Amino acid sequence: MAEILTTTAGKPVVDNQNSLTAGPRGPVLLEDYILLEKLAHQNRERIPERVVHAKGWGAFGTLTITNDISQYTLAKVFEPGTKTEMLARFSTVAGEAGAADAERDVRGFALKFYTKQGNWDLVGNNTPVFFVRDPMKFPDFIHTQKRHPKTNMRSPTAMWDFWSLSPESLHQVTILMSDRGLPTAPMFMNGYGSHTFSFWNKDGVRHWVKFHFKTMQGHTYYTNAQGNDVIAKTRESYQEALFGGIEKGEFPKWKMQIQVMPELDAEKTTYNPFDLTKVWPHSEYPMIDVGILELNRNPENYFNEIEQAAFSPSNVVPGIGFSPDKMLQARVFSYADAHRYRIGTHYEALPVNRPIVAVNTYHKDGALNFRPNPTNPDAYYEPNSVDGPKEDPSVAEPPLRIIGDAAHYNHRDGNDDYSQVTALFNLFDEGQKSRLFGNIADAMAGIPEDIAERQLAHFHKVHPDYAAGVRAARAAGAKESDSFHQAAE
Ligand code: NDP
Repeated sequence: MAEILTTTAGKPVVDNQNSLTAGPRGPVLLEDYILLEKLAHQNRERIPERVVHAKGWGAFGTLTITNDISQYTLAKVFEPGTKTEMLARFSTVAGEAGAADAERDVRGFALKFYTKQGNWDLVGNNTPVFFVRDPMKFPDFIHTQKRHPKTNMRSPTAMWDFWSLSPESLHQVTILMSDRGLPTAPMFMNGYGSHTFSFWNKDGVRHWVKFHFKTMQGHTYYTNAQGNDVIAKTRESYQEALFGGIEKGEFPKWKMQIQVMPELDAEKTTYNPFDLTKVWPHSEYPMIDVGILELNRNPENYFNEIEQAAFSPSNVVPGIGFSPDKMLQARVFSYADAHRYRIGTHYEALPVNRPIVAVNTYHKDGALNFRPNPTNPDAYYEPNSVDGPKEDPSVAEPPLRIIGDAAHYNHRDGNDDYSQVTALFNLFDEGQKSRLFGNIADAMAGIPEDIAERQLAHFHKVHPDYAAGVRAARAAGAKESDSFHQAAE
């Protein structure tokens, strides 16, 4: 027998088909609180979509540790054999919540590990680098990816204007425009923590660390034309592939690996190892196997478990710390701040965000606080003499020496924004290069020539063939568009 329909207060609903009216021709009586409740709830069905990474797909799974990395970190999540429940949310960056999935864009790769020492969130991308290295430029960059204030359309001119004036973006622009810029589904792409983090071990020795998740399904990608064909048929191709695959028992896996750098090496590398626009070359800092990530359970309710999932790089656990990466410091603030605005003060009390360990804070009250009192209800301030929760100095990070005079240092001074891009360009075979040139030519269509020339000068510095290839692809694209217009006339 079906369950009885109730109001939010639990009272059985008499009639969910007809409103309460004065006679069959109306009007509706104001006292029809069931109708009012229904309409009021409909008005509140949306929370603000994320300003970035609004369109997402997610699933639950496990991280299983297969190797011993205790020489680098004392984090319990990495003890050999440990299996930790986790949640992954993948996303595009620029599109709104209803955007099509198969669009060329960077993909978010956000992971939440429900560890025995609290939640550890690794909020990365499918690329090891990012477009900007200084958080002062992050809102400006995102504005160029979103809609123009007057036309309310996306603006390739704004994108290339910003990129061509920001050579640090070249590395990420090249990855975005390469095959890896349009994966066929979340299972077929890598994930990277992107930032440099730190590890410390039981002896208090610190290493810098980069996190990598290598797809075990292989890399597959769409060309722009294939992506357009997919979008013409379905806007939800990633959701279909990820959700549908897991429903069928196809559980995607990633190999988790790390690169580690001894603390003092950071003073010697030719590149700044805390610069988010740079990678650490594999030859200098080889991959170390850690474990296997597997996704094996779909959410029961998309809104509750994926839309309300809140990932923040501020969520680290003992043994994992931050680094001097400027972008990381900004994200440590802005992600938790975004969730307090987007979901509410107590967003971490929601089931999907709740740690599996006890949460004992002295935060009090606030909208939707449904945390129970501390074990002793008299312990609602600190210090107290009633044995309230106490800090644990044993989990302190080893001291980090920071030196330097406070100033607005020009983050572009002395940075080599080209040679790592050259290394990447040289990895591409002829087909990959030709698709790269074509994708860039497509993306540049219609932008002012002076902006295009400024960007081509950057491509030239990476490799003369890069600029020449994009020029040729632009010329071919212009010819094609001319003949299209002639045919149409
Ligand atoms: P390596 O030759 O040792 O490493 C190259 C790495 O590049 C590969 O391991 C792979 O990373 C990645 N790669 C291979 N093909 C492509 C492709 N078509 N598109 C994007 N990435 C690809 O050299 P380096 O470590 O010196 O790196 C050279 C360049 O490779 C870098 O400048 C960077 O642009 C890129 N890269 C480097 C990464 C790193 O962490 N060192 C990570 C990713 C890219 P993966 O194994 O992660 O798939």
